[in-house]
Amino acid sequence: MEAESQASAIIPLALPKGAEKFCELCQREARLQCSKCRVTFYCAAEHQQADWVGIHKRICQLLVPIRALPLRSLQQTSHTETQIKKLIEICRLVAQSKLSEGKHQEALPAAQLCLRCSIDVHGPNTVQLVPAYLLLAEANMGEKQAQNDFLSQAEWAVLKSPKCGLTIHHQLHRSLGRLHVATGDLDTAFYDFANDIYFATEEYGLDSTVTSRGYFLMADVFTKQGKIPTVRSLYSEVARIWHSHLTRLLETHIQTGVCFDQTCTHALDEMLRTMLEFEQKDTRKDPARIAVVAHCLAMLSFLGGDFLKVITSSLFALKVTVLVNGSKITKKKKKVLLTRLYNTETPINKLQLFL
Ligand SMILES: [Zn+2]
Ligand SMILES: [Zn+2]
Repeated sequence: MEAESQASAIIPLALPKGAEKFCELCQREARLQCSKCRVTFYCAAEHQQADWVGIHKRICQLLVPIRALPLRSLQQTSHTETQIKKLIEICRLVAQSKLSEGKHQEALPAAQLCLRCSIDVHGPNTVQLVPAYLLLAEANMGEKQAQNDFLSQAEWAVLKSPKCGLTIHHQLHRSLGRLHVATGDLDTAFYDFANDIYFATEEYGLDSTVTSRGYFLMADVFTKQGKIPTVRSLYSEVARIWHSHLTRLLETHIQTGVCFDQTCTHALDEMLRTMLEFEQKDTRKDPARIAVVAHCLAMLSFLGGDFLKVITSSLFALKVTVLVNGSKITKKKKKVLLTRLYNTETPINKLQLFL
């Protein structure tokens, strides 16, 4: 069962003398404290609840050894530094997964803490703060001013450290590109996504799924500019990369039972659906291209363990596959194709109940 958040009034006698407490989320004077760790403070119940949902329930107990220490010894202890780095990683992953589910508001507490901890470890104005700035920029989607501020700080940090890694450059350009799409500045967005793809290719390779996201975002710019033939070729490149990646994941899953990392499932599902819609509405509709995207969606739902989705997406994938082959679907053919599609008999037994 999931733990519930609990707050109690601050007991001043239990705290070091003269130590003023500030709200974890807004930095205003605190009146409440988390009754589980007793080292985290809030101005009001709303902020305590928002922080609990956003990040605190995952790190409540991790904060006790870090925050219970006096500040001076904290800076001196390398063990504490290791713990804070672990905390940064947790915050980054939580913020990223909430963002990929479109929960921008909920991602804010984790992104904010990620930045504060990064400053504690690496100091202000360092390039190591860039991932946190980018998370905050994305969490503030819709708040143009705040988003701009975080991206400017990230740009400045990167400018000051010419030797920072390729990943940072690719992430920064991707975020800037998104911002420019949102403001309608398509030329600048094009420049940023081109840079994003360049740096991602250098670091991860042409065929990597990381780079493919850059192609997808670039295709969105071309869609807005009405350059459909380019969109078509970019989408088929993205579909090809994901089809072979998902096929590999599915094989590993079937052979070893290793579970699929669900962090980016939502964003991937959305991306594939956008592409499927484009392919279906395309004036030069090509069943082969539709089939590749449909197979990707079917594999994704299979890896996600959602059998109802597997059935609908598999049947759709089958229909288009059969269309490519130019013949009717018979019950026997359904079974053969499903077996081929998933390269296993196991899910077929479950699926057959519905056929
Ligand atoms: Zn507050
Ligand atoms: Zn707590």
